[in-house]
Order: sequence, then structure tokens, then C-alpha cells
Amino acid sequence: MLSTMQDGQLGIRRLLEAGSGFFGSSTVTTALTTSPEVTLETVSYARVGGNVARLAHALAGLGVGPGDRVATFMWNDRAHLEVYYAAPCMGAVVHPLNIRLPGEQVTFIANHAGDTVLVADASLLGILRPLLPAMTTVEHLIVAGDAPLDELRAEIRAGRAAGRTGPGPTVHDYDTLLAAESTSYPWPELDERQAAAMCYTSGTTGDPKGVVYSHRSIVLHSLNVCLPGAFALSSGDRMLAVVPQFHVLAWGIPYAAFLSGASLVMPGPFLPAESLAAVIAAARPTTAAGVPTLWQNLLTHLVAHPEIDVSSLREAIVGGSACPPSLLDAYAERLGIALVHAWGMTEMSPLGSVARVPAGLTGEGARRRQLSQGRFSALVEARVVGPDGTFLPTDGDSAGELEVRGPWIAASYYTGGDSGAGAAGTPGGPGDDPKFRDGWLRTGDVGTISPDGFLTLADRLKDVIKSGGEWISSVELENELMAHPCVREAAVIGVADDRWGERPLAGVVVAPDARVSPAQLRAHLADRVARWQIPERWAFVEEVPKTSVGKFDKKRLRARHTDGGLDVTLLAD
Ligand code: ADP
Repeated sequence: MLSTMQDGQLGIRRLLEAGSGFFGSSTVTTALTTSPEVTLETVSYARVGGNVARLAHALAGLGVGPGDRVATFMWNDRAHLEVYYAAPCMGAVVHPLNIRLPGEQVTFIANHAGDTVLVADASLLGILRPLLPAMTTVEHLIVAGDAPLDELRAEIRAGRAAGRTGPGPTVHDYDTLLAAESTSYPWPELDERQAAAMCYTSGTTGDPKGVVYSHRSIVLHSLNVCLPGAFALSSGDRMLAVVPQFHVLAWGIPYAAFLSGASLVMPGPFLPAESLAAVIAAARPTTAAGVPTLWQNLLTHLVAHPEIDVSSLREAIVGGSACPPSLLDAYAERLGIALVHAWGMTEMSPLGSVARVPAGLTGEGARRRQLSQGRFSALVEARVVGPDGTFLPTDGDSAGELEVRGPWIAASYYTGGDSGAGAAGTPGGPGDDPKFRDGWLRTGDVGTISPDGFLTLADRLKDVIKSGGEWISSVELENELMAHPCVREAAVIGVADDRWGERPLAGVVVAPDARVSPAQLRAHLADRVARWQIPERWAFVEEVPKTSVGKFDKKRLRARHTDGGLDVTLLAD
């Protein structure tokens, strides 16, 4: 029997219309300067909606049509938000490029995606200019902010004349382009399964791979992000989106904000801890989102400057890599801010689970859930698979690789060209790619699922240390090390060992003005982990290398060790 319900398409247009319509007085606040004082630009969602229409007209005028990729090379700010809505609502695809990737990866990704228009922030032209000649598909470059565009045009003309480039992009100024356009646009009716946005994985492992999100997946993901059990967003909130718009669509926050009416605070380029602290004090967000290293840096700054008022923040979402329990405790105890742990992946839009303690639960049970990677969203199915391919019970104890499926989870990677997703059996399609199995995404994460749906990750498959047939969780060792007051950062990698196959090596960053020895750290671990898991190899480093989005880059740490670049102390009982 069929239902009697209407069957409207889920589209980002609905978010735009609600956000700029009945939530029109909500605002996006962008930091313009932080030193010597903070200057903020605050613009209503109603005005953003008008700008989105203007931009859509301008893009259409440049020839952007259905399915065309509109790339961005920008910070988190109001203009970037406008591109996030204009491109998908007109039927094109917004494609944020990660400004922190090595140049050759940026050009590889832009060419692979076939970006035809690129919207860039003026302050990033220094990085972008040398990459332009290699971006073979970009026809138009739109620059937001003040920049000497004539000089840029001359440079492109000279390159063209010297045969160094193809036709080269035509350069436009963002504000000038929008100025003459209308603030309303005849938005098309779109199929909800049509591509709306794309992001590439940041390539922590292997080449970056493209994930193409649909209107439907983004709307459903936004609903999920707003839930009280997830980011708990409503029109009374102001969310500081520190997680970059160039990484997994800023965890979907720009779309969830328009859906819920929550205002946005965008830090622009002001991401160092002292700038961010100043932005928080001035813009007074109620909630925020970012990776653990960011919250760690901010904590160090706030502890040294207790006069900075961050009391507006009731909580902050932390995810992208494991949040050390010591960090969570420090925020609660020193600042009265609840860090809420969340887990996800580029392939998952990204949100999979959020660690909110169920009502009524206290003591050890509450603590365990608070420190876990969180409870799965009801629409994300998850299973744990053992090394031999058997499905393990979700008993909170059986550890294996996590596989997921659901309406905002990728079914394949982008293969290039206009057809988009690879079909089963085609190169790069799900039948061909070991990341997918029977319609499930293999996450590469190892963990357990409890009967009440909480995920506890032990490690990434490639980071777990296989010592004499047993597995050691690098994340657990890191968390315990970072609980030591003299340790600022710790990253543990597996290194070859004649006797055990692999053993852990701890790379440790000592806290400012602190001193600690490997023997002291071993003694600290002795009370906390099984004896055989304690590392014998120790290297004190100035900094743990970070990926383009601020996660510990263990691949680079491993490479440094292989190249003999680490000064390793060997210490055993
Ligand atoms: P990349 O693989 O390039 O880092 P993603 O940003 O998509 O790209 O990273 C997803 C991975 O990040 C997950 O598979 C997981 O290993 C890790 N991750 C994300 N959130 C958490 C978390 N809360 N705890 C531990 N690991 C996490």
C-alpha cells in the first residue's frame, strides 16, 4: 500500500529559504581583524540570502550551468557561506579546496574535479597564484576582498603570451560582480539525488579521493547535526565554526545553521589561539566546533590569560581525532566548558556519532560514554568486523573494523568527468574499491560498539601496533601520556622490532618549562596500561607534525623515524 504523504524533494534551497526568510534576523559574524583590536562584520541571514541570489546570477552570467563545479579557496567567512548556498541552489556543485594542502595536491584535486570557476580570498592569492597555470579547467577566478587585480590579470596575460599556461582564467572582483545583480533568483527545482557539494579526503592515507554529496544527503545530515543529541543547535545559539569550510564542509555547520536559525561566528584567517580567544571574547559564541589540537592550543593560551572572558561558551564539539580525556577534564574544570566528543569522516558528511551522556546516568558508566567517540545517529547503521571477515557482537567488548552505511554516507568515490559517482564494477566504483563492501563503507577504524550504541575507537587500522600477535592501541597510550602534566603532546607509532614484529615508539612534546624523563613516563604508564604495552622507545620532539587540518600526522612521524630523523632513547626494565 502506498502512503498518502506528499513527496517533496529535499534540497539546500529549503535551507536557504528558511535561513534567509523566517530566520532572517540570525547573523553571520566574521572576524576582520584581531590585532590591535578585534573588528567584526555582522550580516543578517536575510542579507546573505540576497547576496546568494546575486552570486547565482553572476555565476550564471559566467556560464555556470547544472553540475558545473564551483571551487573555493577561502577561509571561514561570510562570502564563503554565500558560495556554499549559491552554487548548489542553482544546480551547480560547490567544491571547497583545502588551502593547506601542498600545491601539487591542490592542482591535482582541482583538475580531477574539473572545477570551472574558482572563488578565492584575496589574502590567499600569494599561495594560489603559482598554482593557477597548472589548473587547466578553471575559466573564471573571482577574488573576494581587496587585491591588485590588474596586476594579477597582467601576470596571467604574460603567462599566456609566453605559452606557460592555457587560456588562463578571467579575473573578477567578488563585490563588483555581485553589485549589479538582483537579490532574488528563480531557483530551479532539483532532483534531491543531484550533486550539491564535493570534498576530497585530506589524504592522510594515499591519494585524495573525491566524495560527492547530494542535496538529499546534506539536508538529512543537517537535520542530524541540529539534534539535541548531536550539536544541539537552535535559533538561540551562536556557533563558532573553527573547523574549516575547506574540510568536510565545516562538518555541515553552515547548512545546519540555516536549518536551525543558529547564528554563525566565522574566524576568517584568525586561527592562532590568541586571535581565536579574542574573537570568542568579542563575538560571544555559545558553542563551537574544532579538532583536539585547536582546543589544546586555546587552553594553553586561556590558562596563561585568565582575564580573557570566554564565559559565553557553554560547550564545544571536539572531533576529527581522538580527544584526550585530560583535555576534556581541563576544559570542564578550568573553564566550565563541556567538550563534547564526536566522530566522523569525509565519507560520512562527516557526522557519525556524538558523545552525550544519557540522562540519569552517573559515575563510571557516564564517564565511559563521555570519553567514547559517541552514540551513533539513528540513521547510521554500524557493524564491527573481525580480521577474518566475521561480524562481531556489539557487546562493547569485541573489537574489529567498523563498517557503516546510511543516507549521508558515500557509496563510492568520484571518478572524474560529469557522470560523477563510479558505478559498481567500474574503475573506482564500489565494486572495485576495497573501501566498500556490500553497500557498506569500511572506515579503517578499529573499535567496539556497546549494546546502547556507543562507539569506542581503539585506533585506526594503519596505526594500531601489532606486537607479538597482540594489538596495542596507539591512541590509548597517547591519551595516558597526555594526562601527564609535563606532556603537551604525544604521538605513538609502531616501529619494526626483531623480537615482537612491531613495538610502540612514543614521540613526546614536553610542556613549556617542564622536564620529564622516559623513565618517569614509563612509571606513569605502568599504573595505567598493561606492562607489555609500555613503549621502550622514546623520542622528545619539538612538535608532532600535523596534517592540513591539524590532526597528528603519524605518517610523517614514521617517515622521520625511518629516515633516522628522530633521536630515540631505548629504555627497558
Ligand atoms: P583523513 O583520513 O584525511 O584524516 P577525515 O577527516 O575524513 O580524513 O578523517 C576521518 C578519520 O578521522 C576517521 O576515520 C577516524 O580515524 C578519525 N577520527 C575522526 N573523529 C575521531 C574521534 N573523535 N576519535 C578518534 N578518531 C577520529
